[in-house]
Amino acid sequence: MTAAYSIPLSGPDVTQREIDAVLAVLATPQLSLGPRLPEFEKRIAAFTGAKHALAVNSGTSGLHLCIRALGIADGDEVITTPFSFIASANCALFERAKPVFVDIDPVTLNIDPAKIETAITPRTKAILPVDVFGLPADMKRICAIAEKHGLAVIEDSCEALGASIDGRQAGRWGDCGVFGFYPNKQMTTGEGGAIITDRDDIAALCASMRNQGRDDGMGWLAHARLGYNYRLSDINCALGIAQLERMDGILAARAQVAAWYAAELAALAPHVIRPPEPPAGVVRSWFVYVIQLPGGYTAEQRNALITHLRGRGIGCSHYFPCIHLQPLYAKSFGYARGDFPVTEGISDRTMALPFFNRLTQPQVNTVVRELAAWLAANTPGGRA
Ligand SMILES: *Cc1c(COP(=O)(O)O)cnc(C)c1O
Repeated sequence: MTAAYSIPLSGPDVTQREIDAVLAVLATPQLSLGPRLPEFEKRIAAFTGAKHALAVNSGTSGLHLCIRALGIADGDEVITTPFSFIASANCALFERAKPVFVDIDPVTLNIDPAKIETAITPRTKAILPVDVFGLPADMKRICAIAEKHGLAVIEDSCEALGASIDGRQAGRWGDCGVFGFYPNKQMTTGEGGAIITDRDDIAALCASMRNQGRDDGMGWLAHARLGYNYRLSDINCALGIAQLERMDGILAARAQVAAWYAAELAALAPHVIRPPEPPAGVVRSWFVYVIQLPGGYTAEQRNALITHLRGRGIGCSHYFPCIHLQPLYAKSFGYARGDFPVTEGISDRTMALPFFNRLTQPQVNTVVRELAAWLAANTPGGRA
């Protein structure tokens, strides 16, 4: 499934320091539930400013625990965006709750706060906004709506570690927030994730549920509630600690790659729409570099461009396909094309270009040159 591209879509950035940190754990008897877990959690809490951080084995597990900790269950409704990774909606389905989609803002690509209130019903329990591609959702407006209607907020910040609004970190705006540490994220633990929250009750429940329902001070074979094995091993935590220690450098490297793209792509406007500038006070954390073809282009043309670039050894991808049109959602809920027109139009014309810490300026140049060549031959209504 992963072809070897000369310029891949994504690539990990693991240094000798990280390798040494992992090897050091392997030389100890505590490969899991050892000292690296609380150390990693303390550092995530310090980095984000949250009172509590709980490490888990994936971002998806973190979202699931937040849903459970908030008591969201059968028939409850969770408002979220159809333009995200599928886990943002699946986490509600795990508890037989219903994800209720709200269309997105065509510029930020995040859930449109102006459309949230009409989606609220007596069954609505929570809003689950996603900081898509590392640009924070409009959390101030979303939290104000949630407060007015007595709803919880779970911020899916799996793509946004290091982003902020008015100095307050992504993931800290709602009742709880979740990060993901899969290898394509800003920092990685191989697999992994973290929940952050200022609420003691959510932190205690999540800590217990990720560890088979055990409570603090209870024995290994005593289980207070339904739990899971969503633990993150000390091996993963050691990698995470080392990555987090150089997080400023990682974020700066990604911003530099994005700046190279922005400068090179300026020459292709208006045929390529670049990621938007964040609103005042908002700091984006670069996750992927997603461009948009303008309205005159079709999904077929976007697909042809992806095929063309891949044929030239350049990894690129459709980002994101609409969640509501995924077979599971179309079949279970009867969703069809036309239900969320803004999301569908954006989803038809967006694509992710190669983007990772170690991408070089000459590689960015090659990607943009190939993109320009395709556009010159495939501009709707004539040559560019
Ligand atoms: C990466 C990601 C997740 C979590 O993914 P995992 O692979 O389970 O760690 C959740 N939501 C979004 C929006 C993501 O991008």
